[in-house]
Amino acid sequence: MSEIRKETLVIVGSGPAAWTAAIYAARADLEPLVYEGSFSRTMIPGGQLMFTTEIENYPGFPEGITGQKMMMDFKEQAERFGTRVITEDIVKVDFTERPFRMWSGAGEEVEASTVIIATGANARWIGLPNEERLAQSGGGVSACAVCDGALPHFRDKVIAVVGGGDSAMEDALYMTKFASEVVVIHRRDELRASRIMQQRAFDNDKIRIAWNTVVTDVLGDDEITALKLQDTVTGEERELDVGGLFVAIGHTPNTAFLSGQLELKDNGYVATPVSWRTVTSVPGVFAAGDVMDDYYRQAVSAAGTGCMAALEAERWLAHGEDGD
Ligand code: NAP
Repeated sequence: MSEIRKETLVIVGSGPAAWTAAIYAARADLEPLVYEGSFSRTMIPGGQLMFTTEIENYPGFPEGITGQKMMMDFKEQAERFGTRVITEDIVKVDFTERPFRMWSGAGEEVEASTVIIATGANARWIGLPNEERLAQSGGGVSACAVCDGALPHFRDKVIAVVGGGDSAMEDALYMTKFASEVVVIHRRDELRASRIMQQRAFDNDKIRIAWNTVVTDVLGDDEITALKLQDTVTGEERELDVGGLFVAIGHTPNTAFLSGQLELKDNGYVATPVSWRTVTSVPGVFAAGDVMDDYYRQAVSAAGTGCMAALEAERWLAHGEDGD
């Protein structure tokens, strides 16, 4: 049997929240251990920013910075102060008693005095069988335009993007670089995206919006050839020939591995019941970033809550539940 690791602070995740928590904790000599994820696409190292192009709204980068570069820099900064990193998921936890116990995907057991959960969220799918089949086989269906959109496969074709939020606008704008036309398919007659992103999409001649429309099937054997669409107002059905489909309809928080050990909100995000704090339902376990934030969901706000979680973990270790 492999030896059980004994740690002061374990951080699960590797987005802006996790690395910021690690930077603060490492500088406070807590010697944090980060489980950064295993490339399984559940908790991919670097998190969602690995799938973003240019980040233009993170203060301190007047020219913008790519998500990948930002995450590599965050990690390097955390390691510079002694953060240790394991490229594995945490797949199971036992928070019923202290020290808290966790198990990695490789079967390793780790005990920790305190834990920060910063596992972020993952892209959602429409839920159609052919969508799943063609996404898994690389047949032109993806939830990540930035990862897959530049493939030769998608060049000079009509590409569909499903969703009406900022992600859909970002994906649509990105795909105009390669596609002959981008059709945004949105289930309502009004976008959810921010004004600036809406305007950019409206101003782009290559983007057309199919309002009040849902995808009811994805057609194609080895590769996508068309979508079956339905008008949500009239019920009318039609087909749209496409060479690619990008699904951008939001995210699901990565909380399955917690299997009920932390209280969750109705929408599945980790509950942090005290306003402006990162404490969870279990004293000594803190949550930061998109796994607990269903409202702002920004890199900079995730980093902010990562800082808060590390400071709270430090105080909790020093003073226990009276640490307030
Ligand atoms: P979102 O804001 O939750 O938008 C999801 C969109 O998908 C909504 O328009 C929703 O329609 C639609 N949708 C949801 N489920 C659907 C389904 N089953 N079938 C069809 N359509 C469905 O998600 P997001 O766009 O990923 O953005 C998440 C957060 O990240 C936001 O706070 C956003 O501002 C931020 N973000 C920012 C940037 C940026 O600033 N550059 C880029 C990306 C994301 P309804 O509108 O009808 O609900």
